[in-house]
Amino acid sequence: MATAGLYNQTLHYGNGVFEGIRVYETETGVQIFKAEEHFERLLKSAKLMHINFSMTVTDMINIAYELLERNGLKNAYIRPLIFLGENMSLGPVNDAEFFMCAWEWGKYLGDNLQRITVSPYCRPHPKSCHIEAKTVGHYTNSILASTEAKNRGYDEALLLDVNGCVAEGPGANFFYEKDGVLFTSPLGHILPGITRSTIIDLAVNIGIEIRQEFFKIDSIMEADSAFFVGTAAEVAGIKSIDNYSFPVSWEDSIGFELSRMYQMEVLGKNYKRFELV
Ligand code: PMP
Repeated sequence: MATAGLYNQTLHYGNGVFEGIRVYETETGVQIFKAEEHFERLLKSAKLMHINFSMTVTDMINIAYELLERNGLKNAYIRPLIFLGENMSLGPVNDAEFFMCAWEWGKYLGDNLQRITVSPYCRPHPKSCHIEAKTVGHYTNSILASTEAKNRGYDEALLLDVNGCVAEGPGANFFYEKDGVLFTSPLGHILPGITRSTIIDLAVNIGIEIRQEFFKIDSIMEADSAFFVGTAAEVAGIKSIDNYSFPVSWEDSIGFELSRMYQMEVLGKNYKRFELV
């Protein structure tokens, strides 16, 4: 059984790294979606945080499949975490521990369209941390933003970066649609989401123009539709942001079509754009 000392550096100072991965029951069996990409990002996050960790991507994938099999999980969420040994100083720690658990988890943001609000909290400055790493401590920022939004009656927050441009949600990347073009924030102030890059590839495949560029809230307040993407959230349509309701109905939006494509993609099926009647 895995144990953790109460003086471990992750618990006290937030220095640890983790992943969030989904598993789907497909026609060819239980498949971890984008397993390599997730475990590679975990190792990259560890390296950026100066965590010495010797397992390989293949080792971790094998453990993940064993975990699923032993627990009889078919549609599930996997949480690997690399946490540090006991050390109350702020210096590097030599021993890193690995923990992985899995459970059945519905869509993180649920099935209803989201009513979101611009958060008073901004994403951490990329010069104050490695924002591209999935570090435990970064999630205090996400928890603050999400809790503050819910306390004001919204479903979720949208965080800006330190320059006032739109960054991402507390646990998902953000896209908006305007005149048939999709916009999303470029890398730099966001977690480079694996779902974000899947969605970009799917959109490119059906000939949709994607622009990865900085934009302010004003642009969203004139947008046709918008959505969040992430492993846990999958593709979650957004109904409104503060007082602005998106004019294009979710079912008629590019995001909706991409959400259907994403569901096929995770199941390893080909998506047919125009279904024959
Ligand atoms: N941004 C943040 C802050 C996140 O926590 C997540 C979830 N990992 C994402 C974006 C989406 O990343 P992914 O698609 O790789 O799950």
